[in-house]
Amino acid sequence: MSVKFSILIIEDEQHISDFMYNALNAHGYKATQAFSGKDGLALISSICPDITLLDLGLPDMDGLNIITEVRKWSSNPIIVISARTHEHEKVHALDLGADDYITKPFGTSELLARIRASLRHSNRLNSDTALYSRPYECDGLVIDFSRRVVLIDNMEIHLTQIEYKIVSYLAQSSGKVVTHSALMTHVWGPYSDTENNKILRVNMANIRRKMEVNPAEPKYIFTEVGVGYRLKEDTH
Ligand code: CA
Repeated sequence: MSVKFSILIIEDEQHISDFMYNALNAHGYKATQAFSGKDGLALISSICPDITLLDLGLPDMDGLNIITEVRKWSSNPIIVISARTHEHEKVHALDLGADDYITKPFGTSELLARIRASLRHSNRLNSDTALYSRPYECDGLVIDFSRRVVLIDNMEIHLTQIEYKIVSYLAQSSGKVVTHSALMTHVWGPYSDTENNKILRVNMANIRRKMEVNPAEPKYIFTEVGVGYRLKEDTH
């Protein structure tokens, strides 16, 4: 029998916590619940979960402080549970080292997809294999990193260098959100003006025009309003 991935849920709302607890246990994970920040921090040290699901609005402490604390000694994924309107809070959490976020209300499939993407990403970082030695594949979209080729339904999509850099970077975190500032820094370097993402938006519009049948309703690259972009999860 394989060892189950352990997931710690830090969430003070009983019904949301129970929903996640039941969904995760039903899908082969070993879930543990904490209802306060203090208990959550203690459990992170004692059980060393593979993933922590963290509500930011806890009764005894700010979830952002938990991220800061944990990142002093652990790089294990933290997925933030956030309210829909709090874009600024999401960006802040990601900047502090959270891996991703999930917005309330959410369903089981979305929860499982976020967890899969974070686990896949952290396993890759913990192994010696090169990031994506095999192509990304999803719904007819193929990104071959060794040949630097993007195909949709076997037709090559002609991207500029910059456009390819953006798409391949999103693909290496497929299923996870990538912030505007992370993309800007990756493509245009550490001295890029990450406050002004107009150049990113222009490039993204061009990418969508080339890759999406209907750029207004994208099939592959989703906009996370006020935060960044998310490429559809690799189906490998
Ligand atoms: Ca709460």
